[in-house]
Amino acid sequence: MRVLLAEDDGITRKMVAAMLRKWGYEVLAVSSGDEAWGVLQGDDPPRLAVLDWVMPGLNGVDICRKVRSEMLGTDRYFYLILLTAKTSREEIVSGLEAGADDYMVKPFDPSELHVRVGIGKRILTLHEELVAAKEALRFQAMRDALTGTYNRAAALRRLEEELDRARRDHKPLSLLMMDIDHFKKINDTYGHLVGDAVLKETVRRMQSVVRSYDVVGRFGGEEFLVILPSADEKIAVQVAERIRAAVSAHPVTDDAVSVTLTLSAGVATAESASSGVDALIQSADVALYEAKRTGRNRVCTAAVLRAA
Ligand code: GH3
Ligand code: MG
Ligand code: MG
Ligand code: MG
Repeated sequence: MRVLLAEDDGITRKMVAAMLRKWGYEVLAVSSGDEAWGVLQGDDPPRLAVLDWVMPGLNGVDICRKVRSEMLGTDRYFYLILLTAKTSREEIVSGLEAGADDYMVKPFDPSELHVRVGIGKRILTLHEELVAAKEALRFQAMRDALTGTYNRAAALRRLEEELDRARRDHKPLSLLMMDIDHFKKINDTYGHLVGDAVLKETVRRMQSVVRSYDVVGRFGGEEFLVILPSADEKIAVQVAERIRAAVSAHPVTDDAVSVTLTLSAGVATAESASSGVDALIQSADVALYEAKRTGRNRVCTAAVLRAA
């Protein structure tokens, strides 16, 4: 773990840095509070800091205060230990009030510093685990458990955002509604597990032919929506055709069975749209129904929704 050490006294700085290194920490030593604040604002700063209280420029307590007030709302936590020659109760209380997690009174006992830095390390490790768990949950909440792609709620949220952006940038946005043809028959013939494998492979194939900023979502069952930012109707039809071709190009094989499948697609385009999410979905749905009605395994378009 990396530790930032800010101490203006050269001898103390060298001594503390040597101890920290001996205990296995990677030390970044600076001689002023201003430098320390610069480091903490950097890209990937050490999360553990040992700060001298009295330094020219920004002192250790100033840094504690700035870290706590200016780094609110980030997932970063800094564990701050003040080093001080001050011993009065009021001073120590004011240092802690400024946001220090702990303090050590100089001259200090090395083994005590060792233990206190170790506590900081433990807290930071716990914090990182919590942040990672939160991130994993957030990811899971947006994903469809079977296929790993965006679930319905997340896809609709993305559609809302992308539609807003399209309006702001006066760009078109297209939506594809896609539905696997006669999927029920696949389930009935090969069983649900094979059906599941087909759904997974369908999503994989869909994703392999869209751009990285397009969004593939599972709308429900064997229905998918694809959000195509900046795509006008012509491009959207091309993408839909590309997906249709990729999905039906060769059979999906699973457990020694080989399943041929096709899908139908409805395309709706909002051109610098004033139309909302519901209208866009409704239009794509109508187009999809048309594709089903006229024989399946095809792409149909809805009337382009123009700005009112
Ligand atoms: P169409 O061409 O008109 O779309 O016919 P279809 O058979 O695909 O349509 P229908 O809506 O009748 O059937 C969809 C089937 O998808 C019914 C349902 O059991 C199945 N299904 C929905 N979710 C899942 C799933 O997660 N796994 C599997 N294996 N099947 C699912
Ligand atoms: Mg000092
Ligand atoms: Mg279907
Ligand atoms: Mg369906």
